[in-house]
Amino acid sequence: MSENAPTSPTLEPLADTVELPNPTSPPRHDRLPLPDMVVPGRILWAYAIPIALLHALALLAFVPWFFSWTGVIVMLLGIHVFGQGITLCYHRLLTHRSFQVPRWLEHFFVIIALCCMEDTPAKWVATHRYHHNHSDEQPDPHSPLVTFLWGHIGWLIIQNPGVRSISVYQKYAPDILRDPFYMKLEKNPWLPGWIYLAHAALFFLAGLAIGWWQDGTAMAGVQFGASLLVWGVIVRTVVVWHITWSVNSITHLFGYRNYETGENSRNNWLVALLTVGEGWHNNHHEDPASASVQHRWWEIDITYYEIKLLEKLGLAWNVIPPKFKRRAMRNHQGHQEHEE
Ligand SMILES: [Zn+2]
Ligand SMILES: [Zn+2]
Repeated sequence: MSENAPTSPTLEPLADTVELPNPTSPPRHDRLPLPDMVVPGRILWAYAIPIALLHALALLAFVPWFFSWTGVIVMLLGIHVFGQGITLCYHRLLTHRSFQVPRWLEHFFVIIALCCMEDTPAKWVATHRYHHNHSDEQPDPHSPLVTFLWGHIGWLIIQNPGVRSISVYQKYAPDILRDPFYMKLEKNPWLPGWIYLAHAALFFLAGLAIGWWQDGTAMAGVQFGASLLVWGVIVRTVVVWHITWSVNSITHLFGYRNYETGENSRNNWLVALLTVGEGWHNNHHEDPASASVQHRWWEIDITYYEIKLLEKLGLAWNVIPPKFKRRAMRNHQGHQEHEE
């Protein structure tokens, strides 16, 4: 169990801050209009084409020739490893700065995140900070109070100059743009795509070499490589997309609330399971600075345990604890100063 799980009455996190639990609390709005600069029907082809293409290619998983158990296992492991590029790196590390890591490790995590084809760091971070500033209000880039589909995928494939603009990236992600590597990704729009293709090629070539070596024929190698490509890269990418998108759509509609946060965020155990923590989204909106979204012992947050592991290994520092712990620490310091 994580050390932030409340174990004693003195650390009971919620008692003095919220009415709780309030699973029936009504949504803030019944229905929202689209963000005002969105023109329905104006497709953002740079996003729509890869999203459509990868969904179509993922259907190859239904062709038995591409199947291997190794491919399935590589996909399942990949959902966690590459998904953490988004959850641990893009979200908790870069967007909320809830902990710090060495620069080389941060860049390595960003390359893992780029293998998820979910935008560059500056765009992802700016969009998410924008979401926190305007959650479930009209400017929110992806509120599901417009429609579920808009919050899940529509916002990605329809143009929204109100969010996707240089001035928004400069305003909401200036710290990210100061890093030369992240700036390079913005200045070379094909670079993230090449990184994605390079990692896909690596999966194929590794499978080709292993299959050829094991079965002695080039065809066996091609088949095994193709299996790793389809399952380990394409299906995994599509699954990670939907898992990430479900935080935007499902956890702003379905689940219970620990806090009256002023928008419609929810804690959803299924999304929390799939996202290794992010589904405790109402907790996150209440305390976005914290590296942990675990506010009760059973709201398990695997991502936080992994951050603590990095800290134990000396690879993470300044890990921001939950609000109730920060408050307890402040009180403790106050008492000490008082006694002196
Ligand atoms: Zn949210
Ligand atoms: Zn956030």
